[in-house]
Amino acid sequence: MALSGKRSHPPALKDSAGDDYYLTSSVIGDFSIVDLRQSLLNWYYQFSRDLPWRHSRDPYAIWVSEIMLQQTQVKTVIPYYERWLEWFPTVEDLAMADQQRVLKAWQGLGYYARARNLHLAAQELVKHHNGKFPDQLEVAISLPGIGRTTAGGILSAAFNQPVPILDGNVKRVLVRLVALQIPPNRAIAHLWQLSESLLDPQHARDFNQALMDLGATLCTPHKPDCPHCPWKLYCQAYNLGIQSQLPMTETRAPIPRKMIGVAVIWNDQGQILIDRRRQSGLLGGLWEFPGGKLEPGETVEGCIQREIREELGIEIQVGDRLITVEHTYSHFHVTLNVHHCQHISGEPQPIECDEVRWVTLTELEQYPFPKANVQIIEALKQKAAE
Ligand code: SF4
Repeated sequence: MALSGKRSHPPALKDSAGDDYYLTSSVIGDFSIVDLRQSLLNWYYQFSRDLPWRHSRDPYAIWVSEIMLQQTQVKTVIPYYERWLEWFPTVEDLAMADQQRVLKAWQGLGYYARARNLHLAAQELVKHHNGKFPDQLEVAISLPGIGRTTAGGILSAAFNQPVPILDGNVKRVLVRLVALQIPPNRAIAHLWQLSESLLDPQHARDFNQALMDLGATLCTPHKPDCPHCPWKLYCQAYNLGIQSQLPMTETRAPIPRKMIGVAVIWNDQGQILIDRRRQSGLLGGLWEFPGGKLEPGETVEGCIQREIREELGIEIQVGDRLITVEHTYSHFHVTLNVHHCQHISGEPQPIECDEVRWVTLTELEQYPFPKANVQIIEALKQKAAE
């Protein structure tokens, strides 16, 4: 079967010359799709990565791995994955767990909405699906936090279903295979169609895993190892010598920086005040040291005093600087200017958060905190040990 088969195409793309540009027709040329599938599978059977979740056919375990692997590298994910399954071995265990424990298990992986959605979806599965992960695509993608590529990854790996995937690695491989010379986000429907056309329906599990391995090990963002690639004969980018220039990127505005004043507020009993962020939004449900954004012309000390008054309704005295923490999120950088503070008056109120608590330095360990706040805890511990 040739790639230029009978499928209907998404609307035509325009290439740089303004001509129609179909990914699945003439661009790959006359190579048989069978050759593409077979060469990739042969390579995979020889060089596949040995990953813990590949030893499982349990859709729950595979689902957990797929969610953790979004925006996170394999070597970082492995210890989290193993501990997660120890803490929450089944969908039911996860559904019944306290959200704070779920966030604690995720602490350090970032993008915490992933953990909150896993938890919510587990509860939904227990409530409506008898605790079983669905084997139908439409049902899978209706669950919180499961998009089309995640569903494809789970259904192909767990049930060997011929459902395509299109994560970042796969996108890069396909873009290079057809030498797509526009930014891939402008050709998503076409790339999905290409992924679907290539997928071997008889070996969906292995084919999708192979595609992911190719993107992760040979077709890397920088310096792809084309001489060892099973698709080097077919790859348009390699044959044109433009593999390192693809995928094309959109020009991006520089990432903004936010200056934040953060308070480590002590009371007379030597306890520290922490607050739990609202469920919605970035880092929802996690605990943090209170504070907020500096307004134009404001000093760090002034900002901390104002934020604490507005957010918690208390008066404090701002003291010495404890630490400055730099952290980068996907769309902005933050500089946390952290100061020791002393509680003066008022009962802390959760005005802008879900909950507030006075805790000891040792008790801080029990709470899930964002990565940038973990550095503050380390600094506090170091100070206490001096
Ligand atoms: S030949 Fe090179 S650019 Fe093409 S798919 Fe293989 S590794 Fe990627």
